[in-house]
Amino acid sequence: MSSLSPPTAHVVVALEYDGGDMDCGSGLLLALMARMRRIEEGEVLLLHTREPSVLADLPAWARLAGHDLLGVRDVGADAVTGSGPWQLWIERGRSTVAVPPSPLPALEYTSGAPAPVGTRLWLYSNFHCNLACSYCCAASSPQTAPRLMPVSVAAEAAEEFAAQGGRELLITGGEPFLHPELEELVSLTSAQVPVTLLTNAMVFERGRRRATLESFDRDRVTLQVSLDSAGAELHDRQRGAGSHAKALAGIRIARELDFTVRVAATFLPRDAAAAGDLSQALAGLGIQEKDRLIRPVAQEGYADDGVEITIDTVEPEPTLAADGAWWHPVAVTNRHLKVADAPLPLAHVLDVIRDVVAIQETAGAQGRTVFRCT
Ligand code: SF4
Repeated sequence: MSSLSPPTAHVVVALEYDGGDMDCGSGLLLALMARMRRIEEGEVLLLHTREPSVLADLPAWARLAGHDLLGVRDVGADAVTGSGPWQLWIERGRSTVAVPPSPLPALEYTSGAPAPVGTRLWLYSNFHCNLACSYCCAASSPQTAPRLMPVSVAAEAAEEFAAQGGRELLITGGEPFLHPELEELVSLTSAQVPVTLLTNAMVFERGRRRATLESFDRDRVTLQVSLDSAGAELHDRQRGAGSHAKALAGIRIARELDFTVRVAATFLPRDAAAAGDLSQALAGLGIQEKDRLIRPVAQEGYADDGVEITIDTVEPEPTLAADGAWWHPVAVTNRHLKVADAPLPLAHVLDVIRDVVAIQETAGAQGRTVFRCT
């Protein structure tokens, strides 16, 4: 518990934030960094919290970040026992955190290597999907609200991303081919930066979506298709009856159209034996070894098992959607990992994430893994 008292002098509050029951490890740090960026040096943020551990952790954070914790007040009904909730006054100081330099100009992306913030950007085109996979981190389904990414926002984000040194844009969903303006969205973004488009490959066999697929620049657009097993059993169990055969057909179409096709399988450790057969099957389809990926399930969205995702356990992969920005693409249903309430300006999103990374490095945080979806 903090021994600080409320500020004795009257303090003008520039911004208030209700942190609820979040603690510093599960999202409060991210939320605070974003809000401290909105106020000027010398201005004060008033934080409301119901989480007791914040009283112990916040002074250390403020010290590392170069801010002043002016005071704490217990505003609970029984302030004598100190059960909260609490109010904390934080004055923005001059940051003592050394922000890492801009992204490296030329970067070889290899599986497992962290990408400097600003080199890779994720973009959710929409959230609805023709499938409802048991482990879907985005909680997508045919009934999920589309939350369509406006083409203009995607184009502006891609332009800003490319201008500040971005190397790779990854477009995902939901199923991106359900976005009614995907052709224009991919055309405008891929003109700025190479695009990898994640798809279940089930809906572009014919018609307008087939024409959309054929419109993509083969030199600027890579397709990443989800396929969880060589045979149908595991894939269909996780992703729905009949989905394996349709995904295979989609992979063949994409290959016939001369796309570079990457295939990503997702499964829990208990199903790892499926990996060998799948790799062989993909070789038979002409998928190069470097384009075969195995991903763990993330414990997000529909998944009640899998890798725990927090800012301390996974490297950041900045992610934009129509209604906000997140730490990582597998965490878009996790309010604790939301970075901003709007996707633009991208610079704000990247700055907040860099601030958090710098704080973690300053504090000597170790042990994060790279959770690579591509
Ligand atoms: S995992 Fe992909 S294909 Fe499955 S429901 Fe989610 S978005 Fe759709």
